[in-house]
Amino acid sequence: MTDPKDTDLNTVSVPDELKPVFLKAQDYVRNYFSDVQSDPEKGVIKYSGERYILVRASAMSKDLFDMMALMYNDWGKEEARDLSFNSLFDIAHSIGKADAKSFFLKMDVTDPIEKLSAGPVHFAYAGWASVKIHPLSNPRPDDHYYLIYDHPYSFEAQAWMDKGEKTDFPVCVMNAGYSSGWCEESFGIPLVTAEVECRAKGDRHCRFIMAPPSKIKDHIARYSKRAYIKYEHYNKIDIPEFFKRKRLEDALRSRKDQLEELVLKRTDNLIKANKELEEANIAMKVVLKQMEQKEQADKENFLTNIKHSVLPYKKRQPDYIPFDRQTFLQVSEFDTHGN
Ligand SMILES: [Zn+2]
Repeated sequence: MTDPKDTDLNTVSVPDELKPVFLKAQDYVRNYFSDVQSDPEKGVIKYSGERYILVRASAMSKDLFDMMALMYNDWGKEEARDLSFNSLFDIAHSIGKADAKSFFLKMDVTDPIEKLSAGPVHFAYAGWASVKIHPLSNPRPDDHYYLIYDHPYSFEAQAWMDKGEKTDFPVCVMNAGYSSGWCEESFGIPLVTAEVECRAKGDRHCRFIMAPPSKIKDHIARYSKRAYIKYEHYNKIDIPEFFKRKRLEDALRSRKDQLEELVLKRTDNLIKANKELEEANIAMKVVLKQMEQKEQADKENFLTNIKHSVLPYKKRQPDYIPFDRQTFLQVSEFDTHGN
């Protein structure tokens, strides 16, 4: 077998018009990965001075899924899949974005297509999969962005097939996350990726569609009609969405803020009502005090009046003996003398 010429684009397959820019990227990435330093005594692997880590492919795919399925056995297979796939998508999406940023700086590129070009080549050299971009693709930095591509030799599909298991769902979620992260960083627009066909479930290829979140379902629907994918099958196509979760988190955070605001408002109202009650209580005490003082004053007035109007009569009491009392005295006197 002869070494491919420098002019052969052999790590990625792209439409003819994109070949020159991808060839340039391939040269750069090939040189980058040819400068390798492996130092197990220190536990260090470096390419062109940049440190890398090796991870066993199945540990990030089939084995992780099995472990999650076991751990969340009571949640059911679907939940375990969602949990492990969503985590893997987010991790891969973030790695894709970070790797892209790092390469843009190294390669000193600013054009979106030039930025995109190193992604698939880096993907191939890092052992994730090779990339085949289809001619129907239309990568551009706006709402009309559309990328349809295959990942032959996907490490994820391979991990499932090696275990002899056929799935009923696409499994190449890290592939989808990484490429959408890289392209998002290249074009400066939010992008999502759906794997519409997957070798792990018996399809001929691992095929992906990448588009802005608002357009992805229409693209999938159009593709499904062309590819004669059955409706029930089409419904099982995952759209791993960084944004969906972000939107849900934002909605939750916003609802939490609203609730906190409501609690603050109600607490304010309660404090206000409490203050009003305290003020009413103080006012009531003042009124009661005034009433008590008035009652006391009335009592004193009454006694003074009594004193002034009754006492003069009381002083004249010896001259005044009611008739019945006089009669009684006379009778008593008669009885005492025995007459
Ligand atoms: Zn796949």
